[in-house]
Amino acid sequence: MSVDTTASATATNDLSSFWMPFTANRQFKSAPRMLTRAKGMFYETSEGRPVLDGTAGLWCCNAGHGDPRIVSAIQNQAAELDYAPAFQMGHPLAFTLASRLAQLMPGDLNRVFFTNSGSESVDTALKIALAYHRVRGEATRTRLIGRERGYHGVGFGGISVGGIVNNRRFFGSLLNGVDHMRHTHQPELNAFTRGQPEHGAELADDLERIVALHGAETIAAVIVEPMAGSTGVLMPPKGYLERLRSICDKYGILLIFDEVITGFGRLGSSFAVERFGVIPDLVTTAKGITSGTVPMGAVFARDGIYDAFMHGAPNAIELFHGYTYSAHPLACAAALATLDIYRDDKLFERADSLAQYWEDAAFSLKGISNVVDIRTMGLIAGIELSSRPGAIGERAFEAFLKCYDKGVMIRTTGDIIALSPPLIIEKEHIDQIFNTLAEVLPTIA
Ligand code: PMP
Repeated sequence: MSVDTTASATATNDLSSFWMPFTANRQFKSAPRMLTRAKGMFYETSEGRPVLDGTAGLWCCNAGHGDPRIVSAIQNQAAELDYAPAFQMGHPLAFTLASRLAQLMPGDLNRVFFTNSGSESVDTALKIALAYHRVRGEATRTRLIGRERGYHGVGFGGISVGGIVNNRRFFGSLLNGVDHMRHTHQPELNAFTRGQPEHGAELADDLERIVALHGAETIAAVIVEPMAGSTGVLMPPKGYLERLRSICDKYGILLIFDEVITGFGRLGSSFAVERFGVIPDLVTTAKGITSGTVPMGAVFARDGIYDAFMHGAPNAIELFHGYTYSAHPLACAAALATLDIYRDDKLFERADSLAQYWEDAAFSLKGISNVVDIRTMGLIAGIELSSRPGAIGERAFEAFLKCYDKGVMIRTTGDIIALSPPLIIEKEHIDQIFNTLAEVLPTIA
């Protein structure tokens, strides 16, 4: 039987079966917002209305939508080699892609393990960290350290080290042996700072306290987002990441940066690693690696970590971990085409060169009542609203609905509006985003 995939078949009225992720299902299904096409900077709704993509989908479509170079790479690959296992076998694109990625990443973060999502990248990095200590004979290092307000996806590892209460509290006791440092959000000291805030480097010393409590010999790794995205675009205080790095060095703890959002140009550099000049031991990525077109993630490991696994018998498997779709050929093809676009169209440089314009446009919202903080870097912005008493998130969600009606897609987390457009954005689009917000925000009581 042939399957009808035409627009009429997808314009279904039956919304009951799809249990939507991170969505108020009943509310959505009573007034659905359907996206049916996308090109460049715009989505098109099922009513044929354009909506400017102010969020690169879910922080992922960094090269914009529907670039024919990615489309044809995926089409050609599907015809050439649709799938190949990566266990005890390989296909050339996977190796080419890993090398290209390693060239893009600063320092000696040259080894690349492929996954299919940010959550899988996080669980992979945590597992590599644990296994690394074990293969080196330090099996007591089993404790993992995260941070309050951290978002590291939705796997059990990720929600255990993550620090978002709603993502944790329904799901039992989670991983054993996890501690959290305090978050770095101090609006009373840092509100309306442009770029990295002045205050808060000393919060990295929470790691010293955790070491003092448990003993360094029990701690495997610390994971942080160098810039926390999903909890509201929180920039690292000046000196904070450097301090974490030096405490990790002092005690032999691995430092993991979760760059699922910050990777691939978002901050106006290839990675936050480059932007902040701090080299961690492992880096998790996903999203922008294929510009969101085909699911893929990748974990970067320093040479020394990979090397630590390469000492057993040559025919022994070194790491008992991997996914059926690790290095999926379609994802590899999409990623290589995406990396070509980033390079040829100089999109990371473009993000950097538009950053000042972006920041000034964002800061034009300062002074609107209920706007209590604005934070920007590269092509990302967090606009924080005060919350209605007892109704956290309502104000921002109202802004989301009103902006959507006016043709601009924003994203909200609590009462923070998070903006992260495709890096192909033009100044006129930046104006459209912030002019729309300037119209909408004063209407929200
Ligand atoms: N880590 C971070 C920092 C993220 O922002 C996200 C997703 N927003 C994830 C992990 C999880 O990625 P995924 O949804 O692809 O599993």
